[in-house]
Amino acid sequence: MSTIPFLDLRAAYLELKDAIDAAVARSLDSGWYILGSEVEAFEAEFAAYCGVAHSVGVANGLDALHLALRAMDVGPGDEVIVPSNTYIATWLAVSQCGATPVPVEPDPATHNLDPARIEAAITPRTRVILPVHLYGQPADLDPILALARQHGLRVLEDAAQAHGARYRGRRVGGHGDAVAWSFYPGKNLGAVGDAGAVTTNDPMLAERLRVLRNYGSRVKYVNDERGWNSRLDPLQAAVLRVKLAHLDTWNARRTALAEAYTRALAGVDLVLPTVPAWAEPAWHLYVVRTGRREATQKRLAELGIGTLIHYPIPPHRQDAYADLGLPPGSLPLAEQLASEVLSLPIGPHLEPRAVEQVAEALQRV
Ligand SMILES: *Cc1c(COP(=O)(O)O)cnc(C)c1O
Repeated sequence: MSTIPFLDLRAAYLELKDAIDAAVARSLDSGWYILGSEVEAFEAEFAAYCGVAHSVGVANGLDALHLALRAMDVGPGDEVIVPSNTYIATWLAVSQCGATPVPVEPDPATHNLDPARIEAAITPRTRVILPVHLYGQPADLDPILALARQHGLRVLEDAAQAHGARYRGRRVGGHGDAVAWSFYPGKNLGAVGDAGAVTTNDPMLAERLRVLRNYGSRVKYVNDERGWNSRLDPLQAAVLRVKLAHLDTWNARRTALAEAYTRALAGVDLVLPTVPAWAEPAWHLYVVRTGRREATQKRLAELGIGTLIHYPIPPHRQDAYADLGLPPGSLPLAEQLASEVLSLPIGPHLEPRAVEQVAEALQRV
């Protein structure tokens, strides 16, 4: 049995090597290395792809979340509702504003924020609801947006894993007040280094983000406020423009693999992903649940099959958040999912045959 890597990033480069090399050469040859036309062109193309009015390129996904919250004037004393089961960046962005992340448990079937649990977490200090489209599965946005309207809150979406996903037929990127993206190399739309963006239909938020990412400055050496240096690198923008043109094709390959997994694993003692009727996932990850994760992962590793855990320790159980004083058992669903989830190999360069091999191995565990 051949070795099956969890994700092959080099293959993604090699498929588009000529176009990527040409784009990098064009960017270098331009003599312009900060912001400029390559960044503006990617911003326009990504906004058009998402069906949204504005896209602002930033240095990475964490900055996209952090600066979007800053643009919404989130600060000390404020609370932001976040999923209890997410990558820690979602929480860190809130903390970086001096605000407090308020965790809400997921719907264990979809792994996404459970809208029915949000209202109980809203206080007079709540400013923003921050759903994550975890594993590329869109969160149930309509009830979240309705709750936000009803309570005068804003909605920032963490779409770092959901490039190209659709919620009720419409691409993620323009539903909430703002949507934060990461183009970390392993994401569905990945750069060759760090990169990120915020999309929004709100021209005021877009303008504020352009100022915040660039030292708080509109005009060179004139600083309206204390900003950051978090600009999208034009070299990364040039690569992202090439890759964006292939995103739908590559996502279609992911969907075919996910459907093949779901067919092949039907009889196996695992909890498989649930896809609500209104969701068209981007299948960033194919995550199963098992009470025997350690043995399963070990057996697959022996057969040369790479798996990962997204994520083994929920944010409230990290030392980084010890000061919140949330002991074991305080967010039981996040803790249970963290102990059971296992991500199987998936990606645009995984051979369809590999799914059969992984499924066979899982049947024998
Ligand atoms: C990757 C990721 C981020 C952070 O993106 P970076 O570009 O690595 O800063 C934030 N949220 C989620 C859910 C992610 O998967």
